[in-house]
Amino acid sequence: MDKDPEEHWRDLSEHILTEMKEWRQSHPQATFREIEDAVHSRMSRLEAQLIQDTAQQSKKRAWSGASAQDRPTCPVCHTPLQGRGKRQRRLQGAGGQEVLLTREYGTCPTCGTGLFPPG
Ligand SMILES: [Zn+2]
Repeated sequence: MDKDPEEHWRDLSEHILTEMKEWRQSHPQATFREIEDAVHSRMSRLEAQLIQDTAQQSKKRAWSGASAQDRPTCPVCHTPLQGRGKRQRRLQGAGGQEVLLTREYGTCPTCGTGLFPPG
């Protein structure tokens, strides 16, 4: 486990607050809509980071060493998947933010389907 994500979140939040303050000073005539957009685009960065780090902390990710009945199964033929190591998975958050997760990737020894098991 590297740096405590909480520390990172705090840094990012402070950075966003400072940025917002500066933005407000350089946009004294901003309309409500412009302010809303400025806040939203910054908050979604924090949101993406929170989602990414929180999802990443989940413990049940490592399954490749597990015995066959504990491994996720192929959605096509239900054979236990074979772990292929960790790969980066790009996800789109509900708010449009892009989140990057490190996930175990698996392939099916029977039909060759490859996927990131859900969870
Ligand atoms: Zn299969």
